[in-house]
Amino acid sequence: MHSRRWFCSCVATTIAAGFAATRAVAEPAACTVLTRATQSAVDPDAAIARLKEGNARFVSGEMIHCDLRAQVRATATSQAPFAAVVGCIDSRVPPEFVFDQRIGDIFSARVAGNFVNTDIIGSLEFATYVTGARAIVVLGHSECGAIKGAIDDVRVGNLTAMLANIRPAVAASKAAGERTSKNAAFVQAVAESNAVMAAAMLTEKSQILKDLVANKKLRIAAAMHDVATGKIHFL
Ligand SMILES: [Zn+2]
Repeated sequence: MHSRRWFCSCVATTIAAGFAATRAVAEPAACTVLTRATQSAVDPDAAIARLKEGNARFVSGEMIHCDLRAQVRATATSQAPFAAVVGCIDSRVPPEFVFDQRIGDIFSARVAGNFVNTDIIGSLEFATYVTGARAIVVLGHSECGAIKGAIDDVRVGNLTAMLANIRPAVAASKAAGERTSKNAAFVQAVAESNAVMAAAMLTEKSQILKDLVANKKLRIAAAMHDVATGKIHFL
């Protein structure tokens, strides 16, 4: 009994040590948190490519696993994320997961329907102009409840005012069939228009973002996430 207990704890210790060793050996370069120096080495096109590669890993199930606690320690006094994402609050589209990113990698602004307003644009000026992120992605998604609510002109509580931000995309979108949330093609068309229009609005409403883009220090893109596959398609 005594030796058996010793054997069990010994095996457990060996297995734990084995995992620790495996993780230490397998810890990829991507787990090294960005610094201002490595961030500035990522140009805007490379930042978009990095996000695309991350989504490809997510879709194929080959995500990079890092010691997040080590990343917390490494970012305790500074951060230098390479990109910012404006996404929906939808539980199926967390930007860090779907782009396979971790602590300190990306800024994430989320609001139902991924529209942009003064507060979001100010946040993005902080992410880019102040903190050096090289790309902004406005990430819409399929089956978006906020888009459906805007299409059906839902009026309830504070949602009424919030959904008004999406109505211009509803008005600008075309698809065969009825203009209701029952028409999946129309819902998708509005979600795409909404992402593209939000991305365009960033340089229309922000001289700071416009100048960064003009000086090739920033790239802005719109993209759509498919909640059925996890795949992100850049528009
Ligand atoms: Zn949504």
